[in-house]
Amino acid sequence: MTIQQISSFAAGEWIAPGAGARNIASAVTGEVIATAGNNALDVQGMLDHARNVGGPALRKMTFHQRAKMLKALSVHLGKHKQAMYDLSFNTGATQADHLIDIDGGIGTMFVFASKGRREMPDGHVYLDGEVEQLSRNGTFLGQHICTPLKGVAIHINAFNFPVWGMLEKLAPTLLAGVPAIVKPATNSCYVTELCVRLMLESGILPNGALQLVSGGLGDMLDRLTMQDVVSFTGSADTALKLRANPVILENSVRFVAEQDSLNCSVLGPDAAPGTPEFDLFVKEVQREMTTKAGQKCTAIRRIIAPEPHVQAVIEALSARLAKTTIGDPKLETTRMGALVSASQKRDVLEKAAIIGHEAECVFGNPDDFVVDGADADKGAFLPPMLFHCSDPDAAQRVHDTEAFGPVSTIMGYRDADHAIELANRGQGSLVASVITHDADVARKFVMGAGAYHGRLYFNNRDSMKESTGHGSPLPHMVHGGPGRAGGGEEMGGVRGVMHYMQRTAIQGSPDILTAIGERWVPGAAEVSAPAHPFTRRYHDLAIGETIHTAPRTVTMEDIEHFAEFTGDTFYAHMDQAAAERNPFFPGRVAHGYLLLSFAAGLFVEPNEGPVLANTGLDNLRFMKPVEAGDSIKVRLTVKKKTRRNDEYGEVRWHVTLTQQDDEPVAEYELLTMVAY
Ligand code: NDP
Repeated sequence: MTIQQISSFAAGEWIAPGAGARNIASAVTGEVIATAGNNALDVQGMLDHARNVGGPALRKMTFHQRAKMLKALSVHLGKHKQAMYDLSFNTGATQADHLIDIDGGIGTMFVFASKGRREMPDGHVYLDGEVEQLSRNGTFLGQHICTPLKGVAIHINAFNFPVWGMLEKLAPTLLAGVPAIVKPATNSCYVTELCVRLMLESGILPNGALQLVSGGLGDMLDRLTMQDVVSFTGSADTALKLRANPVILENSVRFVAEQDSLNCSVLGPDAAPGTPEFDLFVKEVQREMTTKAGQKCTAIRRIIAPEPHVQAVIEALSARLAKTTIGDPKLETTRMGALVSASQKRDVLEKAAIIGHEAECVFGNPDDFVVDGADADKGAFLPPMLFHCSDPDAAQRVHDTEAFGPVSTIMGYRDADHAIELANRGQGSLVASVITHDADVARKFVMGAGAYHGRLYFNNRDSMKESTGHGSPLPHMVHGGPGRAGGGEEMGGVRGVMHYMQRTAIQGSPDILTAIGERWVPGAAEVSAPAHPFTRRYHDLAIGETIHTAPRTVTMEDIEHFAEFTGDTFYAHMDQAAAERNPFFPGRVAHGYLLLSFAAGLFVEPNEGPVLANTGLDNLRFMKPVEAGDSIKVRLTVKKKTRRNDEYGEVRWHVTLTQQDDEPVAEYELLTMVAY
């Protein structure tokens, strides 16, 4: 059998394994299948290449161009999934596991591509929040902005998700405009290497945007600066060692860590045997114990159930676990494959033995189980193992020992407060789930346990059909946790992009803020329009382009006509005495919606033109009531433009209605689609 040479990709060249290379064995057969690592890797050359070639190329692109690039990458990877599946069976993963790792990774990249297009500007500066009023007359304002770091992101990944683990970090990094050097765990780096090759061969990425270290990083971390980021996933021990690197400390290098975590799942007090929640709980726990052979950062390590139901859970869970066929991951009948390596299997057995001092093994015997289609002695196979801890208050090791395999411990609780106390004894986790149909229980958990967990997952009969499972970190939601989970936070949509950008507080005049953010700020210069803006195409419209309309007087007949026509005969418009008793109104006033309609009547250009549709209205405020006899006029300004597709883009208009005395009456943002 040929041994695969797993290369690194450094400064534009593939570097084959060399001195210091490590052998990698198949999880299924134990045979050496690959070798990776090279002590002679020029790590400084890689850092320079990323900083001097990859970074500038990425930063030249807008967020939308980078989002399009991510979409193209995910489409390309989607066409080559089978090749990655084929290779990944060697890691012990089943086809169902590949769907989480490979399809899940590609899907995550897709989500970032779409969020980049929808939630980030087609520009180079991301605006974080709204303008802050820092002065009485509005000539000095504040705005938080984010710009890409000018260094490189070093991604150090765990063995369990060779594709998802890379793509979930790579997508936000590239979207931010920062190049990455990816270092997968050596045990499964051959799958990552293939994925990197596919991305590089597609020609979609600019030179220097992505490099790969297969094997050790050498002294790369000693060469980092304050513009670099380290994103780490792996064990707490390694995280501690790496984040304590004096260069990382001295240069305040950002260090985002996801490390081991004693996640729990709680069966709600209401979820007795016979309820849909009880069955759901058992199903989710079984799935979390056996998916990826329990080698999942979010896997359920502690099962917390009401004391009277503990025995019923053990019986139901054992029955399900007994049906988990273990074997060659390539077999369609296999439900659980192998652990990644013999040493990982040894580590899990050692940790299980520690747990065994405080808990009794009630299901699974590592010395006696059936493996289909593979040699149980040569592959890194283990059966699921369920422990029962009868005194979780006195126990310690069940709360702090993570056996990173198909191992979980069940413990009973007396009441909701006790369940919360036990959940929090994990000292910080990535996720805790609560299976309950009682919203009060859910709320109690949020207040009691929220501070200890990065994610709280509630599920019950109403959500179970569409829910994604306790163990699925979703690209839209943050993934990370406090304390022993590492204190880091990844993804969470655009939040995840921020880890690779610097937030800067900008202070200055409205014109300065408008130029920086490419978004018109009230108080900035108005650009006079050469023609009515509704007659001008998307690309011709300038930020700040403004028209002022003629005034229109609002009459009592208008108010009454509008009331009868729409049916809105609210007393403030129709009953003088009642309106006068209301502290907000001087007497009968015009409907807010009447004013909006008049505003449209004042600013609209009626003929067919490039404005295609009105798609909404944001941030509407009515500031002052309008009475019969008052007159209103409108200022309409192009606030922001966002490309949508090849035919049209969104134009966001700032609209202000003022009265005869120039006092503002209403303000809002109008959204329209405008043709190119
Ligand atoms: P490790 O901490 O051993 O390794 C994680 C990564 O760090 C690997 O890429 C590894 O590379 C690298 N690494 C190790 N030492 C160094 C070093 N000195 N300098 C630079 N890089 C280094 O974890 P594993 O991958 O073996 O996973 C095991 C544990 O990680 C599990 O038991 C679990 O607790 C935790 N884990 C947590 C996850 C989470 O999301 N919270 C997910 C997966 C695992 P190499 O492989 O080459 O040694």
